Amino acid sequence: MQIRLSFIISGMKALQLVEYGRFEMTELPVPEIADDEVLIKVVACGICGSDVHGMDGSTGRRIPPIVMGHEAAGEIVQLGSKVEGWSIGDRVTFESVIFCNKCEYCLKGQSNLCNSRQVFGVSCSEFKRQGAFADYLAVHARSLFGLPDGLTYEQAAMVEPVTVALHAVDRAQIKPGDRVVVVGVGMIGLLVVQVLKARGAGEVIAVDVNPEKLSMAAAHGADITTESSIGMELDCAIEAVGITPTVDMAIRSVRKGGNVVLIGNLSSHVEFPLQEVVTRQLTVYGTYGSEGDYPECLELIASGKVNVDGMMSAVITLDQASEYFDRLYKQEPGLMKVVVRP
Ligand SMILES: [Zn+2]
Ligand SMILES: [Zn+2]
Repeated sequence: MQIRLSFIISGMKALQLVEYGRFEMTELPVPEIADDEVLIKVVACGICGSDVHGMDGSTGRRIPPIVMGHEAAGEIVQLGSKVEGWSIGDRVTFESVIFCNKCEYCLKGQSNLCNSRQVFGVSCSEFKRQGAFADYLAVHARSLFGLPDGLTYEQAAMVEPVTVALHAVDRAQIKPGDRVVVVGVGMIGLLVVQVLKARGAGEVIAVDVNPEKLSMAAAHGADITTESSIGMELDCAIEAVGITPTVDMAIRSVRKGGNVVLIGNLSSHVEFPLQEVVTRQLTVYGTYGSEGDYPECLELIASGKVNVDGMMSAVITLDQASEYFDRLYKQEPGLMKVVVRP
């Protein structure tokens, strides 16, 4: 009787960033749900690169105290009075972005650009929203997606980065047979490689300076792995790092009239090879988050077209999370996605 449980238990465990670089396990009240929300017992929540980059204050988007975590899946344990179509016990994941569904962008289906956008587990100058490194989380019913049978909670917790990869590939308007380079094959780059293959791209070239990452890329479908793709005359480049040398390489890798999609944003400013873009009439796109691509991405994972298991380095408890944040922060070799089970 989990629904009763959530009423009886008023406190829950949560991993709180109490100051930059330091976590504490704390007891917080179980969130109260609104009429149109459900209460989710969090079963799995991934540690995102943006959490790791944010924990030292460098991004300004994890202002303490904050419970981080936006890549999660779990079970519905309580329903708001106006929620329809969902039941207690349903296995779900949810959009990391909280959107208003009223502004001009939401009405166009661009919820990632919502004027009053918030993100779970993010606190910045405009808003603070607690995240899923906790026992429970309140989520709006319109943000929920049911898990296909056979998909584990851990796999479902990886769907958010898959939606980011899919949205980037959509922005690139890839046509079957297109030759595409992915510059930077960390977590997102590796997912982009797989989504490109699933979408029928031709040759996919993976670029990185790290040989381990290149062999991961080869194992996940990249046709060519290399340290540089400059001059390859490709149809499209997808850049997943966000520093001057890699943005420069992405732009110099495409043919005249080609497309360049920028996902990486490690630096807020980069040097931009303006004449390369202007005189060869390239199109440069930004991409951010996703536009409700969850059902397709859950299916890509469930069908095995996108393999997320190989990227999951560890599944840990909430008590171990602080230690793993530290190891990720120090960029321990071979450590990719860490999934927490609160
Ligand atoms: Zn994320
Ligand atoms: Zn909106």
